[in-house]
Amino acid sequence: MNQLWSDWVKSLVVIVGLVLLAGSASVAHSHGTGEGEVPLWQWEPEQFQQHVATVRSGKDLTPESWPDGTRVAVSLSFDFDTEPVWMGFQGQQSPSYMSRGEYGARSGMPRIFKLLEKHDIPATFFIPAISMVLHPQVIEDIKKHADYEIGFHSYVHENPLTLSAAEERAVYEKAMKIFVERVGKRPAGFRSAAWDLTPATIQIVKEMGFLYESSMMADDRPYSLLANGEETGLIELPVEWILDDWPLFQISWPSQHVSIRNADDVYSIWKDEFDGAYEEGSMYILTMHPQVIGHRYRMKMLDKLVTYMKSKPGVWFATHEQIALYVKEQAGLGDDDTSAAKPAEERPAG
Ligand SMILES: [Zn+2]
Repeated sequence: MNQLWSDWVKSLVVIVGLVLLAGSASVAHSHGTGEGEVPLWQWEPEQFQQHVATVRSGKDLTPESWPDGTRVAVSLSFDFDTEPVWMGFQGQQSPSYMSRGEYGARSGMPRIFKLLEKHDIPATFFIPAISMVLHPQVIEDIKKHADYEIGFHSYVHENPLTLSAAEERAVYEKAMKIFVERVGKRPAGFRSAAWDLTPATIQIVKEMGFLYESSMMADDRPYSLLANGEETGLIELPVEWILDDWPLFQISWPSQHVSIRNADDVYSIWKDEFDGAYEEGSMYILTMHPQVIGHRYRMKMLDKLVTYMKSKPGVWFATHEQIALYVKEQAGLGDDDTSAAKPAEERPAG
């Protein structure tokens, strides 16, 4: 009996020890942030400096003036995410969610085309490769307008934070193949599906020959992007959640994000932001999604906003690519022989 008791106690000690070890490891892991298992409070000051330098803002690239003496650059972007935003990012695949994505193509896009044509303004569309496959006609309709730009926006709206560097590179290359087949040329602009970058993203984006990136939030003005303290040659056209229809209007049960705003509230935010950009002589980038903004009362608000912006003298409506090319030239940032440094028409399609 004594031997049995002693074995039991030994086993218990081993089990308790293992549980404690696992517990402390998981605590250490949950408080570590990419520096192995070391908790933040044990980092040295230099480690924080090194960490934030992974991707950082460089020079302010606001030009002395915008083309033809205009005082503000305005660019509307529409992220045509359709079904992939639910599948790839929110993990939803039911027919109901698929119909929400379909709404963007079927109901949202015709209204957006109508509004852009009415005001005769350009726009930039960021499109996941799988949205191109599911809605080829929309891509053809966008291509009919020479002043509409199509930018790169993932394969299936996958969250890059869930991928290894090798997987991220592979999925962008897979998406790029479809992009070039459908659009007929390589994109100038990159926008992350999550508006979030991994430590590997900028190197991949640079190597893939993009002119500009549009997912970061260090400024309201265009700026150059640094990676580990070095200029990357990429232009950043920063975005913001306050200038995005998704958090202001969208209901997303999977992410517990519930927001149905009065259009006047959103108009007030977007108009005041525009007025600020106008006073500063800088840039105003609005990000919208056809399945979100494309609803009737919201399109009415967007129409009112564009009408207001057009009523002011000196507003330059441009695509993201036109803004990136202009600020790059004005800042005297020379061509570095990458394909991205050339206008889209001159870039090879392959
Ligand atoms: Zn998106």
